[in-house]
Amino acid sequence: MRPNETSSNSQPNKLNDDEFGDDHVASSSFETPMRADAFDLDDEEKITRIEGHFREIMNILGLDLNDDSLQGTPRRVAKMYVKEVFAGLNPKNRPHARLFDNKYNYDQMLVEKDITFYSHCEHHFVPIYGKAHVAYFSHGKVIGLSKINRIVQYFSKRPQVQERLTVQIGKEIERVLHTQDVGVVIDANHMCVASRGVGDTNSKTGTAYFSGKFNDENIKREFLNYINSK
Ligand SMILES: [Zn+2]
Repeated sequence: MRPNETSSNSQPNKLNDDEFGDDHVASSSFETPMRADAFDLDDEEKITRIEGHFREIMNILGLDLNDDSLQGTPRRVAKMYVKEVFAGLNPKNRPHARLFDNKYNYDQMLVEKDITFYSHCEHHFVPIYGKAHVAYFSHGKVIGLSKINRIVQYFSKRPQVQERLTVQIGKEIERVLHTQDVGVVIDANHMCVASRGVGDTNSKTGTAYFSGKFNDENIKREFLNYINSK
């Protein structure tokens, strides 16, 4: 999507023809497109194979892999992909959220704002980073605030498009908390926009997911006002 545009899941963006190709194309499902055999290889095997392919990319670019500084890069990148920045592809890394009773019968909106996340654009494999803001109404259960952070990090650690990341976080909060009243807003910087292409370093992209009560204009405004307050 274009910088400075805000989209919500209820009003999907229309893409013009000229937005296809080099730019970002939204896919229809909110699930990350994965093959059925995605985890037939274990992590060590994936690291070994990616290392070999990344070495080849560096070779083709003409880099001297005998240089001290470059020697370890293929393995370093492979480990970083599998164990860190794309670890959220593997369901075994999905955070287990322990639910607690909502003892205080708190029935207002709960907001966790300014959750810093680092992800990767799936079209260029360069960073997307920014802040996620998550809100929900409890239906009798609550989770630790750090769990909301972990859910955001888990879905960030995938090749992503920002719209899908936003919806995945919203749906997971709904699933975990058995609530249908969830709001997610993400403000992000796309390095593929900032460092290449149009080279706009100041633009940000906003996306939102609203379900249940968050479709109510007053509730939505309360959430957005809180996010925007210092
Ligand atoms: Zn990109």
